[in-house]
Amino acid sequence: MNDNDAKRYDVVVVGGGQAGLAIGYFLARQGRDFTILEAATEPAAAWRERWDSLKLFTPARYNALPGLAFPGDPDRYPGRDDVVAYLTDYARHFDLPVELGRHVRSIARSDGGYLVELDDGAYAADQVVVATGPFQIPFVPAMADELDDEVVQLHSTSYRSPHSVPEGRVLVVGGGNTGFQIAEELSASREVHLSIGSRQTPLPQRILGRDLFWYLEATGLIRKTTESRIGRRLSGRETLIGSTPRRLRRKHGVVLHGRAVSAAGSTVALGDGTQVEVDGIVWATGFKVDHSFIDAPIFDSAGRVVHQRGVTESPGLYLLGLTWQHTRGSALLGWVKDDAEHIANQIETLSATVPTEPRAPERVA
Ligand SMILES: Cc1cc2nc3c(=O)[nH]c(=O)nc-3n(C[C@H](O)[C@H](O)[C@H](O)COP(=O)(O)OP(=O)(O)OC[C@H]3O[C@@H](n4cnc5c(N)ncnc54)[C@H](O)[C@@H]3O)c2cc1C
Repeated sequence: MNDNDAKRYDVVVVGGGQAGLAIGYFLARQGRDFTILEAATEPAAAWRERWDSLKLFTPARYNALPGLAFPGDPDRYPGRDDVVAYLTDYARHFDLPVELGRHVRSIARSDGGYLVELDDGAYAADQVVVATGPFQIPFVPAMADELDDEVVQLHSTSYRSPHSVPEGRVLVVGGGNTGFQIAEELSASREVHLSIGSRQTPLPQRILGRDLFWYLEATGLIRKTTESRIGRRLSGRETLIGSTPRRLRRKHGVVLHGRAVSAAGSTVALGDGTQVEVDGIVWATGFKVDHSFIDAPIFDSAGRVVHQRGVTESPGLYLLGLTWQHTRGSALLGWVKDDAEHIANQIETLSATVPTEPRAPERVA
C-alpha cells in the first residue's frame, strides 16, 4: 500500500495504554488531527493481563493521568480492575480517538513522514508516537523446554489466581515485585519455593505513616533523570516495594533459593545448590521489548532504540512509556505525563517548522 491509499493524520499514536492516552490528552489540547491505534479489542489491555488480586504499589493520589484525578481515597492502593475502569473512563472523558482492534504491523519512513501499516489498511502521518509498552513480550528462559509436560508452567501474565496453578509444590521464578506478590498469594494454599536471580533493593511501602512515593516526590528522586549520577545509579537497581525476602520466608513460609540454573523432567536446579521437584512453575521472569516493526534509522548496533527522552533521530518519530525512558516515573501511571508533555511539545515545534503537504479533502480507507 502507498501513501495515497492511506488515511492521513498529523500524528498517529501506536498503543492505547496509559502512555498512549496521556499523549492523546496533550495532542487533543493542541487541537491536532490524530488517532490512537490499539491492537487489543478492549481498553487497558496490559492491565487486564495482570492477576486478579494485584494491588498497586502507588496510592491513588499518584495514579492520575493528566487532567483527571484517580477516583476514591487518595491514600488507598487501588486494584487491577480500578485501573482498567479508570483508563477506560479516561479515554471517554476526554473523547480521545482510540481505535480498538487495530494492530500495527509496521512503521516506515515515507514521503517526509511515516506510513503506518496494519493488516487491513494503512495510515500516513507526519509524526508517530510509539507507545506500545515497556512490558511487551513475556520472557521465559529456555530451560522451560526441558521440563516434562506434567509440570504446569505459566508466565506471570497468564497467572490470575491460585486456581491457575495445580495443587502441590510450586516454584515461582523471579525475585521482583511480581514474583514476591504471586509467591505470597500461593503460599496460603501450597508449598511455595521462590527463585531469586538477583536481589532487589527492598523498600517499605509506608514510612512514618506516609507512602514511599510521597518521599520520592518530596525529595525529587522520582524525577531524577538518567543523565544525573543518582538517576543512573537508581536505574541500575530494581526495587522491591512493600516486601522483603525475610518477611516472605518467616510470615508466609516461602522457601527461598538462588537463581534457577537448569531444569530436567520435573526438577529445577537452583544456584544455591538445591534441587526442587515441582508440580507447577510460575515464570515471573519479565518481558522483552520489541520494536522490530519500526523501519527507521533509530537503532544502535545492538538493536536498541537510540533516543533522548523518547525523541529519536528520525524526525517526528517518538517513543513513550519505556522504563526509565527519562526518570523512574516514565513507566508509571502518575508520572508518564511528564514525558508525554515533553513529546507533545516536540510535536508542536516540529509541526510549526515543517511545512505539511496539502491534504486530500476526504480520507480514504
Ligand atoms: C505487575 C505490574 C504491576 C504494576 N504496578 C504498577 C503500580 O502500582 N503503579 C504504577 O504506576 N505502575 C505500575 N506498573 C507499571 C506500569 O504502569 C505499566 O507497565 C503500564 O501498563 C505501562 O503503560 P504503557 O501505556 O506504556 O504500556 P501498556 O499498558 O503495555 O500499553 C501498551 C499498549 O500498546 C498496545 N500495542 C502493543 N503493540 C501494538 C501494536 N503493534 N499495534 C497497536 N497496539 C499495540 C498493547 O495492546 C497495549 O494496550 C506495573 C506493571 C506491572 C507489570
